[in-house]
Amino acid sequence: MTPHYLHARAATLSLEFALDQLGAQAELEARAIRAEQAAVREPLRSASWGRRTALGGHGDPTGDAVLTARAGARPNRYANLHHDVLERLAAVAHHLPPTGGINPLHRVQVAIPGMQPGTAATLTTLLSKLDERVRRELRIGPDREPLPGVECPACRHRLVYVQIAGPEHAWTVVCGKPCRCVGQGCRCEQPGAVEGPVHIWPRSEVLTGHLARN
Ligand SMILES: [Zn+2]
Ligand SMILES: [Zn+2]
Repeated sequence: MTPHYLHARAATLSLEFALDQLGAQAELEARAIRAEQAAVREPLRSASWGRRTALGGHGDPTGDAVLTARAGARPNRYANLHHDVLERLAAVAHHLPPTGGINPLHRVQVAIPGMQPGTAATLTTLLSKLDERVRRELRIGPDREPLPGVECPACRHRLVYVQIAGPEHAWTVVCGKPCRCVGQGCRCEQPGAVEGPVHIWPRSEVLTGHLARN
C-alpha cells in the first residue's frame, strides 16, 4: 500500500472509533435529557427540586417548571454532531461504488484501494478534519502510542508513534516530527516512494526492520 492509501485507511479507522464513542455519548446524553424532562413534568417528585427548596429563594416552583417545560428539551449536541458527520460521509460515499451496506464510512473504506492517490489524499484531509472535530467535542486525543526504542526509518528521529485505531494488522507507524517523503532517493528507501506525504509504514514493517537491525 502506498503512503496515500495507508493514511486514508488510518484516517477511516480513527474516525470509525471516534464515531463509536460519539454514538455512545449521544445515547447517554439522550437519557440525561429524558430524565431532565421527566423531572420538569413531575416537579414535586423531582430530586433536583428538593435541592432547590433546600437552598431556598426560588419563589413559585410550579411556575419555574412550566417555564422550563415551555423552553423545550435542550439539544443533544453529541447526537447532532453524529448526524452531521454521517451526512458528510454519505455525501462522499454517494460518489463511490455501492457495497451493499448502508454504512457510508464502510463504503469509503472499501473504495480506498481503487482510488487515485490524489483522491485518497483529499479524502484523508476530509476524514481527519471530521475526526478532529469529533475528538474535540469528546475531549479525546488521537489513538496513538509512542513506540519506545525505535527510530524513524527515514529521518532517524527517535520518536515514532503507532496509530492504534482499528484491528492490529492495520496499525501504522508515523514519525513524531513528522517528516515527509521526498520521493525517489528518499532515506525511507521505500519502493515506490512518492514525494509529499508524511512518512507512514505498516507497523509490522517497522518492527521487522527494527528487529533486523538489532
Ligand atoms: Zn521521520
Ligand atoms: Zn520517504
